[in-house]
Amino acid sequence: MSERAEPVDALVIGAGPAGLMAAEVLAEAGHRVVVAEGKPSPARKLLMAGKSGLNLTRNEPLDAFLAHYGGAEAELRPMLAAFGPEQVMHWAEGLGQGVFTGSTGRVFPEAMKASPLLRAWLLRLGQAGVEIRTRWRWTGWEEGAVAFDTPAGRRLIASPATVLALGGASWARLGSDGTWAAQLAAQGVPLAPFRPANVGLIVPWSPMMERHHGAPLKGIALSAGALRSRGEVVISARGLEGGGLYSVVAAVRDGAPLLMDLLPDITQAQVAERLGAARKGESLANRLRKAFRLSPAAIALIQEFGRPLPADPLALAGLLKHLPIRHDGLRPLDEAISTAGGVRWDGVDADLMLHALPGTYVAGEMLDWEAPTGGYLLTACFATGRHAGHAAARRL
Ligand SMILES: Cc1cc2nc3c(=O)[nH]c(=O)nc-3n(C[C@H](O)[C@H](O)[C@H](O)COP(=O)(O)OP(=O)(O)OC[C@H]3O[C@@H](n4cnc5c(N)ncnc54)[C@H](O)[C@@H]3O)c2cc1C
Repeated sequence: MSERAEPVDALVIGAGPAGLMAAEVLAEAGHRVVVAEGKPSPARKLLMAGKSGLNLTRNEPLDAFLAHYGGAEAELRPMLAAFGPEQVMHWAEGLGQGVFTGSTGRVFPEAMKASPLLRAWLLRLGQAGVEIRTRWRWTGWEEGAVAFDTPAGRRLIASPATVLALGGASWARLGSDGTWAAQLAAQGVPLAPFRPANVGLIVPWSPMMERHHGAPLKGIALSAGALRSRGEVVISARGLEGGGLYSVVAAVRDGAPLLMDLLPDITQAQVAERLGAARKGESLANRLRKAFRLSPAAIALIQEFGRPLPADPLALAGLLKHLPIRHDGLRPLDEAISTAGGVRWDGVDADLMLHALPGTYVAGEMLDWEAPTGGYLLTACFATGRHAGHAAARRL
Protein backbone atom coordinates (compact mmCIF):
# COMPACT_ATOMS: atom_id res chain seq x y z
CA MET A 1 0.00 0.00 0.00
CA SER A 2 1.30 3.46 -0.93
CA GLU A 3 2.70 5.54 1.92
CA ARG A 4 1.22 8.62 0.24
CA ALA A 5 -2.34 7.31 0.41
CA GLU A 6 -4.74 8.96 2.85
CA PRO A 7 -6.41 6.31 5.02
CA VAL A 8 -10.21 6.52 5.44
CA ASP A 9 -12.68 4.09 7.02
CA ALA A 10 -15.04 3.89 4.09
CA LEU A 11 -14.91 5.39 0.62
CA VAL A 12 -17.89 5.94 -1.65
CA ILE A 13 -17.26 7.04 -5.23
CA GLY A 14 -20.15 8.81 -6.96
CA ALA A 15 -22.56 11.11 -5.13
CA GLY A 16 -25.76 10.07 -6.91
CA PRO A 17 -28.73 8.46 -5.14
CA ALA A 18 -26.99 5.06 -4.85
CA GLY A 19 -23.71 6.46 -3.50
CA LEU A 20 -25.39 8.82 -1.03
CA MET A 21 -27.52 5.94 0.30
CA ALA A 22 -24.41 3.79 0.78
CA ALA A 23 -22.73 6.70 2.58
CA GLU A 24 -25.78 7.18 4.81
CA VAL A 25 -25.84 3.59 6.11
CA LEU A 26 -22.06 3.52 6.54
CA ALA A 27 -22.23 6.71 8.61
CA GLU A 28 -25.18 5.32 10.63
CA ALA A 29 -22.96 2.33 11.42
CA GLY A 30 -20.45 4.77 12.93
CA HIS A 31 -17.83 4.90 10.20
CA ARG A 32 -15.99 7.90 8.86
CA VAL A 33 -17.12 8.13 5.24
CA VAL A 34 -15.59 10.09 2.42
CA VAL A 35 -17.68 10.48 -0.76
CA ALA A 36 -15.68 11.40 -3.85
CA GLU A 37 -17.66 13.01 -6.67
CA GLY A 38 -16.20 13.95 -10.04
CA LYS A 39 -18.58 16.83 -10.76
CA PRO A 40 -18.54 20.22 -8.97
CA SER A 41 -21.74 19.30 -7.09
CA PRO A 42 -23.50 16.08 -6.05
CA ALA A 43 -26.46 14.25 -7.59
CA ARG A 44 -26.83 16.22 -10.81
CA LYS A 45 -28.87 13.48 -12.47
CA LEU A 46 -31.23 13.30 -9.50
CA LEU A 47 -31.79 17.04 -9.80
CA MET A 48 -32.45 16.66 -13.52
CA ALA A 49 -34.89 13.84 -12.80
CA GLY A 50 -36.81 16.27 -10.61
CA LYS A 51 -37.28 18.77 -13.42
CA SER A 52 -40.27 16.89 -14.82
CA GLY A 53 -41.60 15.68 -11.44
CA LEU A 54 -39.41 13.45 -9.28
CA ASN A 55 -41.04 10.04 -9.42
CA LEU A 56 -39.47 8.46 -6.34
CA THR A 57 -41.18 5.09 -6.36
CA ARG A 58 -44.45 3.33 -7.17
CA ASN A 59 -47.03 2.61 -4.52
CA GLU A 60 -47.72 -1.04 -5.30
CA PRO A 61 -47.23 -4.43 -3.61
CA LEU A 62 -43.69 -5.76 -3.69
CA ASP A 63 -44.37 -8.63 -6.11
CA ALA A 64 -46.03 -6.35 -8.65
CA PHE A 65 -43.20 -3.86 -8.16
CA LEU A 66 -40.48 -6.50 -8.65
CA ALA A 67 -42.06 -7.76 -11.88
CA HIS A 68 -40.76 -4.61 -13.61
CA TYR A 69 -37.11 -5.59 -13.27
CA GLY A 70 -37.26 -8.40 -15.88
CA GLY A 71 -34.18 -10.61 -15.81
CA ALA A 72 -32.76 -9.04 -12.62
CA GLU A 73 -35.83 -9.60 -10.46
CA ALA A 74 -34.30 -12.51 -8.51
CA GLU A 75 -31.08 -10.65 -7.72
CA LEU A 76 -32.84 -7.45 -6.70
CA ARG A 77 -35.58 -9.14 -4.66
CA PRO A 78 -33.76 -9.22 -1.27
CA MET A 79 -32.61 -5.61 -1.67
CA LEU A 80 -36.04 -4.31 -2.69
CA ALA A 81 -37.71 -6.41 0.00
CA ALA A 82 -35.53 -4.59 2.54
CA PHE A 83 -35.90 -1.15 0.96
CA GLY A 84 -38.81 -1.00 -1.45
CA PRO A 85 -41.64 1.45 -2.18
CA GLU A 86 -42.85 1.69 1.43
CA GLN A 87 -39.38 2.34 2.83
CA VAL A 88 -38.60 4.92 0.13
CA MET A 89 -41.76 6.84 1.08
CA HIS A 90 -40.84 6.75 4.80
CA TRP A 91 -37.30 7.77 4.03
CA ALA A 92 -38.46 10.83 2.04
CA GLU A 93 -40.88 11.74 4.81
CA GLY A 94 -38.03 11.37 7.31
CA LEU A 95 -36.28 14.13 5.36
CA GLY A 96 -39.29 16.36 5.85
CA GLN A 97 -40.50 15.76 2.30
CA GLY A 98 -44.15 14.78 2.31
CA VAL A 99 -45.03 12.46 -0.57
CA PHE A 100 -48.23 11.81 -2.50
CA THR A 101 -49.39 9.01 -4.76
CA GLY A 102 -50.64 10.06 -8.19
CA SER A 103 -53.49 8.40 -10.06
CA THR A 104 -51.29 5.69 -11.59
CA GLY A 105 -49.59 4.79 -8.31
CA ARG A 106 -46.54 6.96 -8.98
CA VAL A 107 -45.13 8.54 -5.84
CA PHE A 108 -43.77 12.09 -5.88
CA PRO A 109 -42.49 14.47 -3.21
CA GLU A 110 -45.06 17.19 -2.56
CA ALA A 111 -42.54 19.75 -3.84
CA MET A 112 -42.31 17.66 -7.07
CA LYS A 113 -38.70 18.79 -7.51
CA ALA A 114 -35.60 16.99 -6.23
CA SER A 115 -33.82 20.04 -4.82
CA PRO A 116 -35.58 20.33 -1.41
CA LEU A 117 -35.13 16.61 -0.80
CA LEU A 118 -31.49 16.68 -1.84
CA ARG A 119 -30.79 19.74 0.34
CA ALA A 120 -32.30 18.05 3.40
CA TRP A 121 -30.45 14.83 2.65
CA LEU A 122 -27.05 16.51 2.22
CA LEU A 123 -27.60 18.40 5.47
CA ARG A 124 -28.39 15.18 7.33
CA LEU A 125 -25.38 13.43 5.78
CA GLY A 126 -23.13 16.31 6.80
CA GLN A 127 -24.46 16.13 10.36
CA ALA A 128 -23.69 12.40 10.38
CA GLY A 129 -20.08 13.22 9.48
CA VAL A 130 -20.14 12.26 5.80
CA GLU A 131 -17.57 14.29 3.92
CA ILE A 132 -18.32 14.96 0.24
CA ARG A 133 -15.37 15.95 -1.90
CA THR A 134 -16.43 17.38 -5.24
CA ARG A 135 -14.27 17.61 -8.37
CA TRP A 136 -12.60 14.41 -7.20
CA ARG A 137 -12.55 12.27 -10.29
CA TRP A 138 -11.76 8.62 -9.75
CA THR A 139 -9.27 7.29 -12.29
CA GLY A 140 -8.62 3.74 -11.09
CA TRP A 141 -6.14 2.08 -8.77
CA GLU A 142 -2.48 2.87 -8.16
CA GLU A 143 -0.02 1.33 -5.74
CA GLY A 144 -2.83 -0.58 -3.99
CA ALA A 145 -4.83 2.61 -3.37
CA VAL A 146 -7.72 4.37 -5.12
CA ALA A 147 -6.56 7.21 -7.37
CA PHE A 148 -8.25 10.56 -8.09
CA ASP A 149 -7.66 13.63 -10.19
CA THR A 150 -8.51 16.56 -7.92
CA PRO A 151 -8.16 20.36 -8.16
CA ALA A 152 -5.06 19.94 -5.97
CA GLY A 153 -3.60 17.31 -8.28
CA ARG A 154 -3.29 13.55 -8.00
CA ARG A 155 -4.57 12.06 -4.72
CA LEU A 156 -4.66 8.51 -3.38
CA ILE A 157 -7.03 7.08 -0.78
CA ALA A 158 -6.64 3.77 1.00
CA SER A 159 -9.81 2.27 2.41
CA PRO A 160 -10.72 -1.26 3.51
CA ALA A 161 -14.20 -0.79 2.00
CA THR A 162 -15.05 1.11 -1.17
CA VAL A 163 -18.49 1.46 -2.74
CA LEU A 164 -18.52 2.34 -6.43
CA ALA A 165 -21.74 4.12 -7.43
CA LEU A 166 -20.70 5.72 -10.71
CA GLY A 167 -24.04 5.55 -12.52
CA GLY A 168 -24.90 4.26 -16.00
CA ALA A 169 -23.72 5.62 -19.34
CA SER A 170 -26.19 8.32 -20.35
CA TRP A 171 -26.47 12.09 -19.90
CA ALA A 172 -22.66 12.20 -19.63
CA ARG A 173 -22.74 15.95 -18.96
CA LEU A 174 -24.35 15.19 -15.58
CA GLY A 175 -21.44 12.94 -14.61
CA SER A 176 -22.28 9.34 -15.44
CA ASP A 177 -20.26 8.81 -18.60
CA GLY A 178 -19.65 5.07 -18.26
CA THR A 179 -15.87 5.46 -18.56
CA TRP A 180 -15.57 3.32 -15.42
CA ALA A 181 -16.36 0.26 -17.55
CA ALA A 182 -12.86 0.19 -19.08
CA GLN A 183 -11.25 0.44 -15.62
CA LEU A 184 -13.32 -2.44 -14.24
CA ALA A 185 -12.85 -4.58 -17.34
CA ALA A 186 -9.10 -4.18 -16.91
CA GLN A 187 -9.47 -5.61 -13.40
CA GLY A 188 -11.30 -8.67 -14.75
CA VAL A 189 -14.83 -7.58 -13.77
CA PRO A 190 -17.40 -9.13 -16.18
CA LEU A 191 -19.51 -6.48 -17.92
CA ALA A 192 -22.60 -6.50 -20.11
CA PRO A 193 -22.48 -3.89 -22.92
CA PHE A 194 -24.35 -0.64 -22.26
CA ARG A 195 -27.64 -0.32 -24.10
CA PRO A 196 -30.16 2.51 -24.05
CA ALA A 197 -33.24 1.97 -21.89
CA ASN A 198 -36.15 4.36 -21.44
CA VAL A 199 -35.30 6.15 -24.63
CA GLY A 200 -37.17 7.68 -27.54
CA LEU A 201 -37.53 6.36 -31.09
CA ILE A 202 -36.28 8.03 -34.25
CA VAL A 203 -39.18 8.42 -36.70
CA PRO A 204 -38.55 10.08 -40.08
CA TRP A 205 -41.92 11.88 -40.17
CA SER A 206 -43.43 13.02 -43.45
CA PRO A 207 -44.03 16.81 -43.72
CA MET A 208 -47.73 16.09 -43.02
CA MET A 209 -46.86 15.34 -39.40
CA GLU A 210 -45.11 18.66 -38.75
CA ARG A 211 -48.15 20.37 -37.26
CA HIS A 212 -48.54 17.54 -34.76
CA HIS A 213 -45.04 17.82 -33.29
CA GLY A 214 -45.46 18.19 -29.53
CA ALA A 215 -48.91 16.55 -29.53
CA PRO A 216 -49.57 13.88 -26.90
CA LEU A 217 -51.27 10.61 -27.77
CA LYS A 218 -53.45 9.67 -24.80
CA GLY A 219 -55.58 6.63 -24.10
CA ILE A 220 -53.54 4.41 -26.43
CA ALA A 221 -51.74 1.12 -25.81
CA LEU A 222 -48.39 0.05 -27.19
CA SER A 223 -47.03 -3.45 -27.53
CA ALA A 224 -43.69 -4.90 -28.54
CA GLY A 225 -42.82 -8.55 -28.03
CA ALA A 226 -44.18 -9.59 -24.64
CA LEU A 227 -44.33 -6.00 -23.36
CA ARG A 228 -47.46 -3.87 -23.31
CA SER A 229 -48.09 -0.39 -21.95
CA ARG A 230 -50.98 2.02 -21.53
CA GLY A 231 -48.94 5.18 -20.89
CA GLU A 232 -48.89 8.42 -22.84
CA VAL A 233 -46.63 9.02 -25.85
CA VAL A 234 -45.61 12.35 -27.36
CA ILE A 235 -44.96 13.06 -31.05
CA SER A 236 -41.74 15.06 -31.22
CA ALA A 237 -39.93 16.60 -34.16
CA ARG A 238 -37.46 13.73 -34.06
CA GLY A 239 -39.79 10.84 -33.37
CA LEU A 240 -41.72 9.47 -30.43
CA GLU A 241 -41.01 9.73 -26.72
CA GLY A 242 -42.76 9.42 -23.37
CA GLY A 243 -43.37 6.99 -20.53
CA GLY A 244 -45.75 4.77 -22.51
CA LEU A 245 -43.05 4.13 -25.07
CA TYR A 246 -40.24 3.68 -22.52
CA SER A 247 -42.10 0.75 -20.93
CA VAL A 248 -41.89 -1.29 -24.14
CA VAL A 249 -38.71 0.04 -25.70
CA ALA A 250 -36.53 -2.79 -24.34
CA ALA A 251 -38.36 -5.22 -26.66
CA VAL A 252 -38.07 -2.79 -29.60
CA ARG A 253 -34.34 -2.57 -28.90
CA ASP A 254 -34.21 -6.34 -29.15
CA GLY A 255 -35.88 -6.27 -32.58
CA ALA A 256 -39.62 -6.66 -31.84
CA PRO A 257 -42.02 -4.66 -34.05
CA LEU A 258 -43.86 -1.83 -32.27
CA LEU A 259 -47.65 -1.79 -32.58
CA MET A 260 -50.03 0.89 -31.40
CA ASP A 261 -53.62 0.23 -30.37
CA LEU A 262 -55.46 3.52 -30.76
CA LEU A 263 -58.66 2.10 -29.25
CA PRO A 264 -57.53 -0.26 -26.51
CA ASP A 265 -60.86 -0.27 -24.66
CA ILE A 266 -62.96 -1.80 -27.46
CA THR A 267 -62.55 -4.91 -29.59
CA GLN A 268 -61.70 -4.99 -33.28
CA ALA A 269 -65.24 -6.22 -34.03
CA GLN A 270 -66.74 -3.26 -32.15
CA VAL A 271 -64.45 -0.86 -34.02
CA ALA A 272 -65.47 -2.45 -37.35
CA GLU A 273 -69.15 -2.19 -36.46
CA ARG A 274 -68.88 1.53 -35.74
CA LEU A 275 -66.84 2.08 -38.91
CA GLY A 276 -69.46 0.22 -40.94
CA ALA A 277 -72.13 2.60 -39.71
CA ALA A 278 -70.53 5.56 -41.52
CA ARG A 279 -72.79 7.95 -43.37
CA LYS A 280 -72.36 7.96 -47.15
CA GLY A 281 -69.90 10.60 -48.29
CA GLU A 282 -68.53 11.17 -44.80
CA SER A 283 -64.73 11.52 -44.79
CA LEU A 284 -62.75 8.93 -42.88
CA ALA A 285 -61.15 11.59 -40.70
CA ASN A 286 -64.60 12.83 -39.70
CA ARG A 287 -65.80 9.33 -39.03
CA LEU A 288 -62.79 8.56 -36.81
CA ARG A 289 -63.22 11.81 -34.92
CA LYS A 290 -66.96 11.39 -34.37
CA ALA A 291 -67.14 7.65 -33.72
CA PHE A 292 -64.05 7.32 -31.55
CA ARG A 293 -63.15 10.87 -30.51
CA LEU A 294 -59.67 10.35 -31.92
CA SER A 295 -57.47 13.44 -31.77
CA PRO A 296 -56.17 15.06 -34.99
CA ALA A 297 -52.69 13.78 -34.11
CA ALA A 298 -53.95 10.19 -33.75
CA ILE A 299 -55.79 10.42 -37.08
CA ALA A 300 -52.66 11.82 -38.74
CA LEU A 301 -50.69 8.90 -37.31
CA ILE A 302 -53.08 6.39 -38.90
CA GLN A 303 -52.59 8.07 -42.23
CA GLU A 304 -48.82 8.27 -41.72
CA PHE A 305 -48.37 4.57 -41.01
CA GLY A 306 -51.51 2.97 -42.45
CA ARG A 307 -51.61 4.31 -46.02
CA PRO A 308 -53.12 3.11 -48.29
CA LEU A 309 -55.99 2.76 -45.80
CA PRO A 310 -58.14 -0.32 -46.42
CA ALA A 311 -61.75 0.31 -47.39
CA ASP A 312 -63.03 -2.81 -45.65
CA PRO A 313 -64.22 -1.85 -42.10
CA LEU A 314 -62.80 -5.00 -40.48
CA ALA A 315 -59.37 -4.49 -42.08
CA LEU A 316 -59.41 -0.82 -41.12
CA ALA A 317 -60.40 -1.75 -37.57
CA GLY A 318 -57.43 -4.13 -37.52
CA LEU A 319 -55.17 -1.23 -38.45
CA LEU A 320 -56.58 0.97 -35.68
CA LYS A 321 -55.99 -1.83 -33.18
CA HIS A 322 -52.51 -2.85 -34.45
CA LEU A 323 -50.99 0.17 -36.17
CA PRO A 324 -47.36 -0.72 -37.08
CA ILE A 325 -45.03 2.10 -36.05
CA ARG A 326 -42.18 2.37 -38.56
CA HIS A 327 -39.01 3.86 -37.11
CA ASP A 328 -35.28 4.20 -37.63
CA GLY A 329 -34.29 2.76 -34.26
CA LEU A 330 -33.64 4.18 -30.82
CA ARG A 331 -32.28 7.62 -29.99
CA PRO A 332 -28.58 7.51 -28.99
CA LEU A 333 -27.36 6.03 -25.68
CA ASP A 334 -26.47 9.41 -24.18
CA GLU A 335 -30.10 10.56 -24.47
CA ALA A 336 -31.49 7.55 -22.63
CA ILE A 337 -33.07 8.14 -19.23
CA SER A 338 -31.25 5.04 -18.04
CA THR A 339 -28.94 2.38 -19.42
CA ALA A 340 -29.06 -1.39 -19.38
CA GLY A 341 -25.80 -3.32 -19.07
CA GLY A 342 -22.91 -2.69 -16.71
CA VAL A 343 -21.46 -4.94 -14.01
CA ARG A 344 -22.84 -8.44 -14.52
CA TRP A 345 -24.45 -10.27 -11.63
CA ASP A 346 -21.89 -13.07 -11.86
CA GLY A 347 -19.24 -10.43 -11.13
CA VAL A 348 -20.59 -9.71 -7.63
CA ASP A 349 -21.53 -11.77 -4.59
CA ALA A 350 -24.78 -11.51 -2.63
CA ASP A 351 -23.29 -8.47 -0.83
CA LEU A 352 -22.67 -6.70 -4.18
CA MET A 353 -18.94 -7.08 -3.59
CA LEU A 354 -16.86 -7.58 -6.74
CA HIS A 355 -15.31 -11.06 -6.89
CA ALA A 356 -12.36 -9.54 -8.72
CA LEU A 357 -11.78 -6.80 -6.12
CA PRO A 358 -12.49 -7.91 -2.54
CA GLY A 359 -13.57 -4.95 -0.40
CA THR A 360 -15.02 -3.09 -3.42
CA TYR A 361 -18.81 -2.99 -3.80
CA VAL A 362 -21.03 -1.68 -6.60
CA ALA A 363 -24.48 -0.10 -6.46
CA GLY A 364 -27.05 1.73 -8.55
CA GLU A 365 -27.27 1.95 -12.32
CA MET A 366 -23.75 0.50 -12.68
CA LEU A 367 -25.25 -2.93 -12.15
CA ASP A 368 -26.82 -4.84 -15.03
CA TRP A 369 -30.54 -4.29 -14.52
CA GLU A 370 -33.15 -2.18 -16.22
CA ALA A 371 -36.67 -1.11 -15.47
CA PRO A 372 -39.19 1.35 -16.88
CA THR A 373 -39.34 4.89 -15.56
CA GLY A 374 -41.99 5.43 -12.93
CA GLY A 375 -39.92 5.29 -9.76
CA TYR A 376 -38.45 1.84 -10.42
CA LEU A 377 -35.05 3.28 -11.30
CA LEU A 378 -34.55 5.43 -8.23
CA THR A 379 -35.94 2.80 -5.87
CA ALA A 380 -33.47 0.18 -7.11
CA CYS A 381 -30.61 2.72 -6.87
CA PHE A 382 -31.56 3.47 -3.27
CA ALA A 383 -32.00 -0.22 -2.43
CA THR A 384 -28.71 -1.37 -3.97
CA GLY A 385 -26.90 1.59 -2.39
CA ARG A 386 -28.20 0.60 1.04
CA HIS A 387 -27.39 -3.04 0.48
CA ALA A 388 -23.80 -2.32 -0.57
CA GLY A 389 -23.42 0.19 2.29
CA HIS A 390 -24.60 -2.33 4.89
CA ALA A 391 -22.30 -5.01 3.49
CA ALA A 392 -19.34 -2.61 3.48
CA ALA A 393 -20.14 -1.65 7.09
CA ARG A 394 -20.17 -5.33 8.09
CA ARG A 395 -16.75 -5.78 6.51
CA LEU A 396 -15.44 -2.89 8.57
C1 LIG B 1 -34.10 13.27 -17.45
C2 LIG B 1 -34.14 12.15 -16.44
C3 LIG B 1 -35.29 11.96 -15.69
C4 LIG B 1 -35.35 10.90 -14.77
N1 LIG B 1 -36.47 10.76 -14.01
C5 LIG B 1 -36.55 9.73 -13.13
C6 LIG B 1 -37.68 9.57 -12.30
O1 LIG B 1 -38.60 10.41 -12.28
N2 LIG B 1 -37.75 8.47 -11.50
C7 LIG B 1 -36.74 7.53 -11.46
O2 LIG B 1 -36.86 6.54 -10.72
N3 LIG B 1 -35.60 7.71 -12.17
C8 LIG B 1 -35.49 8.77 -13.01
N4 LIG B 1 -34.35 8.95 -13.74
C9 LIG B 1 -33.23 7.98 -13.58
C10 LIG B 1 -32.42 8.23 -12.29
O3 LIG B 1 -32.11 9.60 -12.16
C11 LIG B 1 -31.12 7.40 -12.35
O4 LIG B 1 -31.45 6.05 -12.56
C12 LIG B 1 -30.32 7.54 -11.05
O5 LIG B 1 -29.90 8.88 -10.85
C13 LIG B 1 -29.09 6.63 -11.06
O6 LIG B 1 -28.48 6.75 -9.80
P1 LIG B 1 -26.96 6.32 -9.56
O7 LIG B 1 -26.62 6.78 -8.19
O8 LIG B 1 -26.78 4.89 -9.90
O9 LIG B 1 -26.13 7.13 -10.65
P2 LIG B 1 -26.04 8.71 -10.95
O10 LIG B 1 -27.22 9.42 -10.45
O11 LIG B 1 -25.71 8.80 -12.39
O12 LIG B 1 -24.80 9.15 -10.08
C14 LIG B 1 -23.49 8.71 -10.38
C15 LIG B 1 -22.51 9.74 -9.86
O13 LIG B 1 -21.18 9.25 -10.05
C16 LIG B 1 -20.37 10.32 -10.48
N5 LIG B 1 -19.22 9.78 -11.22
C17 LIG B 1 -19.23 9.09 -12.38
N6 LIG B 1 -17.97 8.79 -12.75
C18 LIG B 1 -17.16 9.28 -11.77
C19 LIG B 1 -15.73 9.26 -11.56
N7 LIG B 1 -14.90 8.68 -12.42
N8 LIG B 1 -15.23 9.85 -10.43
C20 LIG B 1 -16.07 10.43 -9.52
N9 LIG B 1 -17.40 10.50 -9.68
C21 LIG B 1 -17.94 9.91 -10.80
C22 LIG B 1 -21.29 11.13 -11.37
O14 LIG B 1 -20.81 12.47 -11.52
C23 LIG B 1 -22.60 11.05 -10.60
O15 LIG B 1 -22.76 12.12 -9.69
C24 LIG B 1 -34.24 10.01 -14.63
C25 LIG B 1 -33.08 10.23 -15.39
C26 LIG B 1 -33.02 11.29 -16.29
C27 LIG B 1 -31.77 11.50 -17.08
